[in-house]
Amino acid sequence: MNLRNYLPGLLVINFLSITFNGLSQTTPITRNFAAAETDVYYQDMHVEIDPAINKVAGEITYYFTSRIDQLNRFVVDYADNLPILFIRRGNTDLSYSRSDDLITIDLGKSLMIDEHDTLNISYESEGTLRQELHAGTPVISTDKDLDILWYPGKRDLADKVDSVDLYVTTPPGQYVAGNGTLKGIEEIGGKWIHHWQHRHPIATTYLLELAITNYTIVQDSVLLKDGTMLPLYYYLYPESVTALSTELAATPDILQFFENHFGPYPFADEKYGYAQYTAGGALEVQTIPFMGFFNFEVIAHEMAHQWFGNNVTFGSWSDIWLSEGMAEYLAGLATEALRPSAWNTVKTSKINSITSQPGGSVHVNDTTDLGVIFNGRLTYDKGFYLAHMLRWEVGDSAFFLACRNSLQDHDASFARTRDFQDHLEAVSGITLDEFFDDWFYGEGYPSYTINWEQQQDSVILWIDQVQSDPSVSYFEMPVPIAAYRFGVVADTVFQHTYEHQRFAMYVGTNTISQILFDQDKWILSKGNKIIKVITAIPSLDMDSLVIYPNPASHFIELSNVGSIDEIDFIHASGICISRVVTDKHVSLEGLLPGQYTLVMRDRNNAIVSRHSLIVQQ
Ligand SMILES: [Zn+2]
Repeated sequence: MNLRNYLPGLLVINFLSITFNGLSQTTPITRNFAAAETDVYYQDMHVEIDPAINKVAGEITYYFTSRIDQLNRFVVDYADNLPILFIRRGNTDLSYSRSDDLITIDLGKSLMIDEHDTLNISYESEGTLRQELHAGTPVISTDKDLDILWYPGKRDLADKVDSVDLYVTTPPGQYVAGNGTLKGIEEIGGKWIHHWQHRHPIATTYLLELAITNYTIVQDSVLLKDGTMLPLYYYLYPESVTALSTELAATPDILQFFENHFGPYPFADEKYGYAQYTAGGALEVQTIPFMGFFNFEVIAHEMAHQWFGNNVTFGSWSDIWLSEGMAEYLAGLATEALRPSAWNTVKTSKINSITSQPGGSVHVNDTTDLGVIFNGRLTYDKGFYLAHMLRWEVGDSAFFLACRNSLQDHDASFARTRDFQDHLEAVSGITLDEFFDDWFYGEGYPSYTINWEQQQDSVILWIDQVQSDPSVSYFEMPVPIAAYRFGVVADTVFQHTYEHQRFAMYVGTNTISQILFDQDKWILSKGNKIIKVITAIPSLDMDSLVIYPNPASHFIELSNVGSIDEIDFIHASGICISRVVTDKHVSLEGLLPGQYTLVMRDRNNAIVSRHSLIVQQ
């Protein structure tokens, strides 16, 4: 789902306020207490819809198995105020009760575990569809609310319906955009019956939908990695076909890019496409997202959901960033690869959005509040940055491999954040508990202060950080720093883990004019300061200080100790080791070979001198 218009400078269009108009913002969207008792493996659905009339008449047949012994009920979600005509097994009416927007059907018998059953529900309702006009013509779709109203169905995040056949009766001349494959359109009694068939597991949250109007269907195709051609179908308003052709032309390139990085398009034996409709946002309907507007980012975002959100669905509403944050990030990756000049702007706008408030976590703490679940700043934008920083933390190859492994591991199923963390840790060898504590559960972001000065052939840096929210005590991050003089002359990534940590970088004979912090925006941060410090070093007789030998292996001797009490050995990698001076002698035991900056301090920790030293094996 896509909540906003991405055009830079335009106001965010709040999809929620449109979509959920009239719906309580605290509606729990997972309320089916008995969902885990059954496994629905097939739905045979028949509906009649005329786009000119906001009304649906339908009959749905459920095929399910019991997951428990002595099952005697089947519970489906359906608003209490919507009419049910009958519920039957064969010709036998089944009794049922309704409350809390659930129908509890008495099976009239007791099922053993793994035993099959079938029943059908006939229903009709008014006003439950999204109905709009385009060029004066009605367009109707089933995604009026996330609290799905267009058919009684079992909704949960543990059971996908494995297979669906959907027959839609419409007036002639109307075309239906639906999930999977269009098996045919048949004319019976002056009406058209459209048969859509989907043979992949589908979450029944908001991925099984229809949109109907006098569409013009534009066909394209894309060469998949396995060498087959995937058909692309664009269900467009006749008056929009020409205007949308330029934006839609990016679709094959984006799909190939996603296949290269995230594995095969999950519904390759069916189709991909888009259906235009008149809404403020877009919705990732499986195999055919519904689009209220088209641009590169929203085309990519909804397509990305086919991997993150649809084929692999978040296993809890707390983890919805795995769908929305990842889709947002994949759209960003498509921008980085295919429209690189826009990539920096995307990252900047995300940082500005996230840091517009000091707190808030990607983890959804209140899963009964749709406004919290679909929070644009946190679920989408901070979810984007969570993914971006994971990529930075573990590296490109580990990140993309972990994504592919996770998608494969949970193919056609559900995944939690912990599962994704496990895959990232398995391929990178890096423990990410601290990272997820800070960036997924924790709130806010760091602001960095970097003090630096040049001493001969080295730049010394002291890196500090404050947190915008007290839930995170410190953001331990790899911090990229570059030294600049008419261009970058040195760049290093420092493992920054504590306050006032000192680092040094070797810059040779260059006189550094500027230190650059995180030029590529890998870290979510704001209000960073870079300060060139000039420390007055007491000259005294320190100018005559000589260190020998240099290069050294096991120890160094100082010609003149003066007030020097302790020496910090700062390696170019950022490691800083302090050694006490004992009788002009300092041991080098335990120091790795390399170039060091030596910072001499007196008893009061004041810096009294600096030198360079090469440590050899
Ligand atoms: Zn989305």
